[in-house]
Amino acid sequence: MSELTPGLAYETKSYVCTHVFAGSRPVLYVTRPDGSWCALCGDNHPDDAAYYRVVGLGHVLDQDPTLSAVLDLQPDEEAERPDVGGPWTRSRC
Ligand SMILES: [Zn+2]
Repeated sequence: MSELTPGLAYETKSYVCTHVFAGSRPVLYVTRPDGSWCALCGDNHPDDAAYYRVVGLGHVLDQDPTLSAVLDLQPDEEAERPDVGGPWTRSRC
């Protein structure tokens, strides 16, 4: 099985919003509540499964390789950026 980084599998389950899933908006917000991976566009979304999709984390990276900069996020950490290529701001979530 291929890995993105040591110990982080390509097919690691991650949540994306429907915007990221459709490619209509870039990932500007990555958060790890309870250790899961969420790659979101940064807008507010209803807390409703209809607004999210489950994908392999590697597929998200394939769409935007710049996300590799935040693959070291730990559980309960998050990072956001103003635009693609902009600086990531990290915090606890
Ligand atoms: Zn979205």
